Amino acid sequence: MSPSAVALPEILRGEGLPVFEAITPATVTAHIPGLIAELEADLSQLETRLGHRLSAIASDASQLLRWQELMDPLQRLGERLRWSWGVVSHLNGVCNSPELREAHAGQQAAVVRFGNRAGQSRLIYRALEQLQQQHMAASPGAPGHLDGAQQRILAAELRDMQLRGVGLQGAEQEAFNAASQELAELSTRFGNQVLDATNGWTLRLNDPAEVDGLPESLRAQLAQAARSAGDEAASAESGPWLVGLDMPRYAPFLKYSRRRDLRERVYRAHVSRASGQGEVCGEQADGEPLNNWPLIERILALRGEQARRLGYANWAEVSLAAKMADSEAAVEGLLEELRAAALPAAQQELEALRQIARRHHAPEADDLQPWDVSFWAERLRQESFELDSEALRPYFPLPRVLDGLFSLCSRLFDVTIEAADGEAPVWHPDVRYFRIREGAATATGEPIAAFYLDPYSRPGSKRGGAWMDECLVRSRRQDGTTVLPVAYLICNQSPPVAETPSLMTFEEVETLFHEFGHGLQHMLTTVERPQAAGINGVEWDAVELPSQFMENWCYDRATLLGMARHWQSGEPLPEAEFGKLQAARTFMGGTATLRQVHFALVDLKLHSQWRPGCGQSPEQLRRAIAANTTVLAPIDEDAFLCSFGHIFAGGYAAGYYSYKWAEVLSADAFSAFEEVGLENEQQIRDTGRRFRDTVLSLGGSLDPKAVFEAFRGRQPSSEALIRHSGLLAG
Ligand SMILES: [Zn+2]
Repeated sequence: MSPSAVALPEILRGEGLPVFEAITPATVTAHIPGLIAELEADLSQLETRLGHRLSAIASDASQLLRWQELMDPLQRLGERLRWSWGVVSHLNGVCNSPELREAHAGQQAAVVRFGNRAGQSRLIYRALEQLQQQHMAASPGAPGHLDGAQQRILAAELRDMQLRGVGLQGAEQEAFNAASQELAELSTRFGNQVLDATNGWTLRLNDPAEVDGLPESLRAQLAQAARSAGDEAASAESGPWLVGLDMPRYAPFLKYSRRRDLRERVYRAHVSRASGQGEVCGEQADGEPLNNWPLIERILALRGEQARRLGYANWAEVSLAAKMADSEAAVEGLLEELRAAALPAAQQELEALRQIARRHHAPEADDLQPWDVSFWAERLRQESFELDSEALRPYFPLPRVLDGLFSLCSRLFDVTIEAADGEAPVWHPDVRYFRIREGAATATGEPIAAFYLDPYSRPGSKRGGAWMDECLVRSRRQDGTTVLPVAYLICNQSPPVAETPSLMTFEEVETLFHEFGHGLQHMLTTVERPQAAGINGVEWDAVELPSQFMENWCYDRATLLGMARHWQSGEPLPEAEFGKLQAARTFMGGTATLRQVHFALVDLKLHSQWRPGCGQSPEQLRRAIAANTTVLAPIDEDAFLCSFGHIFAGGYAAGYYSYKWAEVLSADAFSAFEEVGLENEQQIRDTGRRFRDTVLSLGGSLDPKAVFEAFRGRQPSSEALIRHSGLLAG
């Protein structure tokens, strides 16, 4: 750190681990504008230098533009913004408050504007083209020739600038920029309205008859929610219990509540969130109902216009330009393959639910509704496998699950993971900090990375879902030393209640493994060029490979039985329960696959077919697709699109299919371990090492098809995914 950097306000430090408590809404408002002004000045200076260099090169063909003159300063500029704005965005996700949200929203336009300015700089674009021309003209090893990673970085940079409108002129470019900015604001508003609508609705239950069927852990959680809302006397036994629409409360309520009327109320509330209709859409501060429909149409219309300005027919084409999948047809081909296998399976599964409802003489047997599906599926699961996923919670206390995850990583990837709490500032007392060292089972190996883990749900201030984000990216400082990567790992699992640790459902364990897979790719990268290190430069539809790969290990005998132990008695998970977990893996597999296919197709078609005045609303288009991608038609107030944050508040527009695309890769990668035999220790370690040295290590430095082939020895096949999903039998 340079001496002058010490005096900088924390938010501008630009390197090292952030001191989160020093990054307040006031400092965001006070310092981000200055940072952006400085970056703009630096960018102008860089452009001036490049202008001189390009003219000199034009008049003297023996001169070459060097990588260090363009790509390194460009990367440093981007990194200063990423560091500062990244921390603000991170805090906005995990410590949301009205003040921070306002401060974030207040600066976002300027951040986007700077990104557009840099992304549309003609001088930088010309300089990138110069690097590319030099490379084309040079033989390997000659001056101007680029290595593989550099070529990928350069190609991605050129493509991204083209997609940011560098080729647009005058008014066309101004319109493009205005639309980009509006899109960023719309996305943020969309996400906030989902959060507000989710938090804005609760159902207070006072009568023990109303919590009939709910497991102890859920009643405790609902009572805790009631206490947080001011009912200090609330208890798991006698209530009151506060139901909400956040996943840790909503999903188990639908699964276990024997009160069909209450399931229906909660379900209707959930599917109509932020849709401006229904009893429960929530309200803005000014009393207007939260309504994401107008935002959806506006977002889609703007994206369509942006695509046409860039010379593409629609936004789906723009999205695919930067992905591993070659075309919309290729994506549809895969989705249709999965749909065809999943639809008959899903129909059989629904019939099985009707039958079990009939066996229990439930009046809804002949009129099964969406709010009955989770409930009867859970009954059927219990009867078929005698597997009660709630009853498994005591076997998955978070500390043991972490031990299991860390020793798996040791075994497969030859690393050691150790607690380092207190060595880094955190943003909440529940957040933990860990370090990764080279070499299995050693406390003295070279440190190679670190990560934060923020495991628990905090409704109201923390965004739902789970994710991995970059805190620091692996890179080489100007003095030649290495910046080690640091990851944020965020989950939303049930918090500890009183003396009981966080007891995880098996699904929460899978989620943790999933996010850790992203983290491993970020942290175990060996690429020192940050533009291609870790997840950077990895095509979106390949980026879920390591994460979904890690989920497979939750079903591996040695891994699971090694970590699942009762938190009080220390007893291992009974063998029979493991067998049931495996059997349950493909339970309702047709329904689950069909659901993902539905989301993916809706997303793709909204971005390729829908446009204003096309004669149907986005919702009508969704319902047309639902005709052969659902087995229970969406109910009237089902406004799922109004909370489809992946595509309207996140980066998955025309890219939701990526989950399935990458699942083909991850299932096939895991099948390499199955092939050598999961009990064959040495071969497992060798295969794990090869996975580390290819998929986890190479990041975006190589084409994803080549990375896959380096690991697997051939191109991916969908055979393993179809087998793992249980869709073969028919
Ligand atoms: Zn993921």
